[in-house]
Amino acid sequence: MLQDTFGRIHDYLRISLTDNCNFRCSYCMPVEEMEWMPQSKLMSKDEILKLAEIFVSLGVNKIRLTGGEPLVRKEFPEILAGIAKMGVESTLTTNGVLIHKHIQALKDAGVRSVNVSLDTLNREKFQKLTRRDQFEQVWDNILLLLQEGFRVKVNAVALHGMIEEEICDFVKVTEKLPLHIRFIEFMPFSGNHWSSKQVVTAKQMLDLVQTQFPIEKLEDKKHDTAKKYQVPGFEGTFAFITTMSEHFCGDCNRMRLTADGKIKNCLFGKEELDLLAALRSGLEVIPLIKMSILRKHQALGGQFSQDYKKADPDKIDNRSMITIGG
Ligand code: SAM
Ligand code: SF4
Repeated sequence: MLQDTFGRIHDYLRISLTDNCNFRCSYCMPVEEMEWMPQSKLMSKDEILKLAEIFVSLGVNKIRLTGGEPLVRKEFPEILAGIAKMGVESTLTTNGVLIHKHIQALKDAGVRSVNVSLDTLNREKFQKLTRRDQFEQVWDNILLLLQEGFRVKVNAVALHGMIEEEICDFVKVTEKLPLHIRFIEFMPFSGNHWSSKQVVTAKQMLDLVQTQFPIEKLEDKKHDTAKKYQVPGFEGTFAFITTMSEHFCGDCNRMRLTADGKIKNCLFGKEELDLLAALRSGLEVIPLIKMSILRKHQALGGQFSQDYKKADPDKIDNRSMITIGG
């Protein structure tokens, strides 16, 4: 069991399969041209599965595959199948554009829930944001996932200047479709030119939704990162991930393994330990995992406080989101 000094048990691992991506979302990757990691630095398929197995032996019961874009990794189906054999809940966060090519692999692995990122319902805005003209393919794939019986959560980063005019359209979508839309407050990462002025808080978004819809608060489960709501009678739900305005570090159970094999005990933590180097040199990995968890800060990686307006992005030492694995 992986318990930190604050009594939090860590049983949920997110594995980044690659730092590469077929989209170019400006809030996620450095505005400056990115240099992808060389293949030799990335965990191989066997190394991913070996490390995953070690985490499972330490009590991990849920593994999310992420990236970069996990579906651009050639061995995605084999990696997913390998993880499915470990008897843990396996799931995926994806930009959705390649889902149609992997739907059978997801079914075969027993995946039940998929998170698809989509920040706008407007094709032109989508193209501007991702620098790819693929809104229709992503939307079709969301519908395909629903048709095939998956639970689909849609992650929308709440970008100031965009979410204000779209939030009610997103909520409207949940009238007829059983989608679970999660609005994520914009977070600071290396190279994404974050400023507190660009953050639209859950409270501000909720106020906007309430100008058009009656809403009902739904019950949130332990470890849920999202605060859930529904318009009575609608098929789907909507929720807010309030990392900036009200963090949920108190019952955090999450750890991350980057595509180059470093364990990160927190999305915002700067401390990393190199599990891949240890594995490649034949050294023990378990003590490093335990050490990482014992070093975990109480909140927000120890890098900024609850008052996000005081956060200074230049003082936050971290990777870009695309190289962490959200
Ligand atoms: N490529 C996949 C995708 O887009 O879903 C998986 C990786 S992406 C880094 C994981 C999640 O992080 C996405 O939902 C994305 O919207 C979110 N994300 C990236 N940068 C963010 C930021 N600065 N603030 C909030 N969420 C962010
Ligand atoms: Fe790629 Fe996902 Fe980051 Fe967009 S959010 S650049 S799709 S990794």
